[in-house]
Amino acid sequence: MKISVRNIRKTFDLYPALHDVSLDIASGELIALLGPSGSGKTTLLRLIAGLEFPTSGKILFGDEDASAKSVQERNVGFVFQHYALFKHMTVADNIGFGLTVRPAGTRPARAEIRRRAEELLELVQLPGLGGRYPQQLSGGQRQRVALARALAIEPRVLLLDEPFGALDAKVRKDLRRWLRELHERTGHTTVFVTHDQEEAVELADRVVVMSQGRIEQVGSGDDIYDEPATPFVFSFIGQSNEVPVEVRGGEIAYRGAVLGRTEEADGHWRMFVRPHDLALAETGQPGLAGSLFGARRAGRSRVAEIELDGGGPRIEVELSADADAQQGRAVTLRPTRWRLFPQSATAA
Ligand code: ADP
Ligand code: MG
Repeated sequence: MKISVRNIRKTFDLYPALHDVSLDIASGELIALLGPSGSGKTTLLRLIAGLEFPTSGKILFGDEDASAKSVQERNVGFVFQHYALFKHMTVADNIGFGLTVRPAGTRPARAEIRRRAEELLELVQLPGLGGRYPQQLSGGQRQRVALARALAIEPRVLLLDEPFGALDAKVRKDLRRWLRELHERTGHTTVFVTHDQEEAVELADRVVVMSQGRIEQVGSGDDIYDEPATPFVFSFIGQSNEVPVEVRGGEIAYRGAVLGRTEEADGHWRMFVRPHDLALAETGQPGLAGSLFGARRAGRSRVAEIELDGGGPRIEVELSADADAQQGRAVTLRPTRWRLFPQSATAA
């Protein structure tokens, strides 16, 4: 099922939670909504589900306008972060619940519901656990049951709101891989909400980066890492430094020291550069001059904080573990890779 979100605005009282959001989700795609808390991910998901209605704009399922349709009419399955299973019901009854509450006539026979529950337990790799109660399962198993329950109604679309958010890192990672494989087998159009960039990139075909009720960028993991479209995306995805620079005649300069070349127009720009894209230069060479303020170990390397001369910003640089990290040491850094954004671009 293809989904088109067209110019959606959503305000709560007067508070704008989403501003003019448009997004096309292809049939069978697994897409991740990624952004910090409060960026509007859940609101967008609830609008797609039919749990909220847009202030303006439209949502299409296939070619039909679903904007005014109810959750049941849209036939979506969803799983939330704390999707409580019914404690007093067995796992099998939990999975079959959405079918047992269907109106007579559309409700499958009891034996059929039981058979479907068993099939789904196989699918989510919990065969034979239908007779257990939720409290007899681990957190990861419960979330898989929640997913089986969402799938039981044969939804046209699967909506997952931080479904693994409450689980510990190791379980999360396993479930992530498992969900990716499940998606490859079942091919449901799936929208997955997360604030974890690693999770988004590992799981999704495309990632939608959101901030303050707006979509900042839609792209593959590589796109958002290597070609961040905005200062927000640059600094949200991975470590980053920002240095104010001036472009004149194709040269990028910081306080008169030429850092590199660009095709951008003359004027003031914001240079964004990642800690591993700064190289130590020989003293006397042009670059970002400063002094080493402190250093910490980061895996196999070392991240040093450099205070740029003349009260410039403090920036981080990745050094090899054996580099001289003496506090107060004078250093000159040359960016090897960067992005320039105009001064007026949306603040990060
Ligand atoms: P996210 O899921 O990215 O954390 P949400 O979509 O939950 O963000 O929220 C986006 C913004 O909308 C937040 O500022 C939140 O406080 C506000 N908001 C969400 N739901 C409601 C509501 N029912 N009433 C009022 N404000 C809301
Ligand atoms: Mg949320």
